[in-house]
Amino acid sequence: MGFSTKQIHAGVKPDPTTGAILTPIYQTTTYVQPSVDEYLSKGFSYSRSGNPTVRALENKLAELEGGADCAAFGTGMSAVTATMLAFLSAGDHAIISDVAYGGTYRLCTKVLTRFGIEFTFANGADPNDVASSVRDNTKLILTETPANPTMKCTDIAAISKIAKKAGAVHAVDNTFLTPYFQRPFELGADLSIHSTTKYMDGHNATVGGAVISKTAELAEKVKFIQNSTGSIMSPMVAWLTLQGCKTLSVRMEQQSANAMAIAEFLEAHPKVEQVCYPGLKSFAQHELSSQQATGYGAMLWFEVKGGLAAGKKLMDSVKLWSLAENLGSVESLITHPVTMTHADVEAKERARVGIIDGLVRLSVGLEDKEDLIGALENALKQV
Ligand SMILES: *Cc1c(COP(=O)(O)O)cnc(C)c1O
Repeated sequence: MGFSTKQIHAGVKPDPTTGAILTPIYQTTTYVQPSVDEYLSKGFSYSRSGNPTVRALENKLAELEGGADCAAFGTGMSAVTATMLAFLSAGDHAIISDVAYGGTYRLCTKVLTRFGIEFTFANGADPNDVASSVRDNTKLILTETPANPTMKCTDIAAISKIAKKAGAVHAVDNTFLTPYFQRPFELGADLSIHSTTKYMDGHNATVGGAVISKTAELAEKVKFIQNSTGSIMSPMVAWLTLQGCKTLSVRMEQQSANAMAIAEFLEAHPKVEQVCYPGLKSFAQHELSSQQATGYGAMLWFEVKGGLAAGKKLMDSVKLWSLAENLGSVESLITHPVTMTHADVEAKERARVGIIDGLVRLSVGLEDKEDLIGALENALKQV
């Protein structure tokens, strides 16, 4: 089956009692057991451990990524946290992309270090830097590619080889491209992590997360943490995400086509200093992006001539684009990572990894590209 067929049909079947085509929202805490001897015969005991609506989403996401199983979480951050807790203990070491979601960086540096876990933030664009960061106690490598917000890309196959040699698990945060455009397991990775808040939901309706495991053995470790820490997704969120997923391929195609048009418009604009979009020939890792993904996604950033002051003017005056955190939705959003999503990353660290003060991040939505470009064109006249 093709991806678009799977995104609609995988994991769901008509409700056996009513024939309802959509999986119901099983809003229940517990499940009445037929008898002591038949405990768990229908598969569910308590909704922290598992819920039929959440299970349907987990099955769908596992199939879309081509993995053995999936665990769905209350947020993307709880999915990242569960990955860390499943594969790291006190005294262990993990290597993380030096450009990563601000919340991932904060989790590592401000929370997990308190429990005796060590982290190295390595340059994912240079596999040698990752290889030379490996220690005897390295148990996990987390790659975010393309990375939020600089769009730095990491060669998933190269890092998977390094992880295998080190005996470490390789997790890829696949939030930006989704399995429609990027297939971590086919490139050798072990886990694929999502903030389902972003493209999986796609409609700014929910926050959620997921970890898809390549093997049942890895999945069992993640599921154990999902139950032990009580971080499972809620049935309502799972239901909304189940509906959002059905149009993933169509949204990704159209949003990335819009992003390409906007990137080309910005690159040609005299008031724009630089544009960073993996689909542009000028993108430093255009070749790697073209080789390991089948699309370039709908995230990009640019810098206006005049840096931070000019960028602020543009973000405050632009119409149609909403100034907000989040990304991946049908609504186009404009974000200033330095004051918003990445404010918790120290200024020195931001400078080191290329999150410049004037960086304006765009999450390109599903509106008509002419309207999106027109709004940017008008705003650029103000700066
Ligand atoms: C948003 C995001 C997260 C965190 O997800 P939440 O749903 O906001 O908790 C993790 N990784 C990436 C790449 C993200 O964009």
